[in-house]
Amino acid sequence: MDFAREIRVIEDFPKAGVSFKDITTLLKNGRAYHAAVEALVQAIAPWRPELIVGPEARGFLLAAPLAYALGLGFVPVRKAGKLPAATVAQTYALEYGFDTLEVHADAVRQGQRVVVVDDLLATGGTMWATANLLRKVGAEVAGMGFLIELTFLKGRDKLSDYPVFSLVQYD
Ligand code: AMP
Repeated sequence: MDFAREIRVIEDFPKAGVSFKDITTLLKNGRAYHAAVEALVQAIAPWRPELIVGPEARGFLLAAPLAYALGLGFVPVRKAGKLPAATVAQTYALEYGFDTLEVHADAVRQGQRVVVVDDLLATGGTMWATANLLRKVGAEVAGMGFLIELTFLKGRDKLSDYPVFSLVQYD
């Protein structure tokens, strides 16, 4: 399937100069959504994950069905202040300012192999912070899967410690 045809591109959203990749058009097409999750399953299964992790919010839309398809558990990574039990935090740089992601401190077993899934790899900051969080709680990050990669932003360079897979690339 030509997944790029299912993704809507909105120029200058949320601000001038950004070419926003809108996956809602793919998600509302049942065949495309199913095929995208299946393709990610095929790419990720060889990494032998024991758990799937997704950062909020669009990461949930891919990571949760992927976990279900593989018969694995799902762990959410959330913005600061959203998770109710004891958490571990990681702050990371945005274009302007900083943001903090959290995961439950007891979310993984020591040495558990986790694969992280998100909708889009841009600069890699979100995934770098997520991987750091997971290492702090004792996980082994076995790989990272994305629906979309903006290759010109070279996010992979920031994630060179991990195998990275993306379904659709924009350059
Ligand atoms: P980054 O941390 O720079 O890799 O950015 C990744 C996160 O920002 C992803 O979770 C995306 O949801 C969002 N994002 C960044 N750039 C775009 C874009 N051009 N279109 C849609 N989402 C984006």
